[in-house]
Amino acid sequence: MPRTVVTGGAGFLGSHLCEHFLVKGHEVIAIDNLLTGREENVAHLLGRPGFSLVKYDVTNYLAVEGPVDQVLHFASPASPVDYLRLPIQTLKVGSLGTHKALGLALAKKARFLLASTSEVYGDPAVHPQPESYWGNVNPVGYRGVYDEAKRFAEALVMAYHRAHGLQTRIVRIFNTYGPRMRLNDGRALPTFIGQALRGEPLTVYGDGMQTRSFGYIDDLVDGLGRLLASDVTEPVNIGNPDEVTMLDFAKEIVALTGGRVGIEFRKLPPEYADDPKQRRPDISRAQSLLGWTPRTTRAEGLKRTLGYFRGRLGQTAP
Ligand code: UDP
Repeated sequence: MPRTVVTGGAGFLGSHLCEHFLVKGHEVIAIDNLLTGREENVAHLLGRPGFSLVKYDVTNYLAVEGPVDQVLHFASPASPVDYLRLPIQTLKVGSLGTHKALGLALAKKARFLLASTSEVYGDPAVHPQPESYWGNVNPVGYRGVYDEAKRFAEALVMAYHRAHGLQTRIVRIFNTYGPRMRLNDGRALPTFIGQALRGEPLTVYGDGMQTRSFGYIDDLVDGLGRLLASDVTEPVNIGNPDEVTMLDFAKEIVALTGGRVGIEFRKLPPEYADDPKQRRPDISRAQSLLGWTPRTTRAEGLKRTLGYFRGRLGQTAP
């Protein structure tokens, strides 16, 4: 039975990956210090044979008994509110945590996958963003703690690949959403949905003309499965190129939840000074090398996500 280690396994993305590989017949060891992850994300997996959750901070020396076939490094605070609140932990898990996870993969001769991010492109001057773009990141800005940690992580992964011949994969994940996101993680999507469901106005930062491209979790998991099974060592963008302004997106959420709440413009918080003004993945590489393309429309994905958040708020669909 193949064995897969998922750091950040109790997080939003990590928990879906644990489930994916468990269903495929792997033994899955989730490692998470529950800083931003939640045990309830994997509660439904805990009784299943082959699944275990180890509560541990992966910035420390990482030991796993027995053979390991894959190490997927997904541990990190990932929403701006979280990494602004946890700047040092974010830098540590992206640097020291990646080093420990790579060390584990090397010791076990396992395949390694790094969860990188569209944030490596910073506030991009090239649009849409291909993997060949080197980015526009402010190292000393508030977001630098996440962006630079992930950029360092990518460099470290390539060094392990080149120096040790480790089998490595790097995915640059664009905004992803779906069930098990935290309602209060501060990101626009859960924030807007939470506000709409509570009957509060939606808080749009700035003029709302900044764009994002939201991809549904199931498409991401499909892309990651393909990337791991491939021999592609260079970074691969995984995201849905369907780009939308934050204002239009807020309007979409208002309409989807019954149209009873308004939209309130807020001054961009000072920590959002480097907020990327535009973001859309160029997915040609994933399409040509992995045969991957996103299948879930935003309307469909939002419907499913809304159902999840309604459940958490104890609401039923009207
Ligand atoms: N945003 C907003 N209202 C909020 C939270 C975020 O308008 O209550 C904006 C934010 O300024 C950014 C966009 O929504 O331009 C997406 O931010 P998010 O935190 O979702 O993630 P990011 O893509 O920046 O990591």
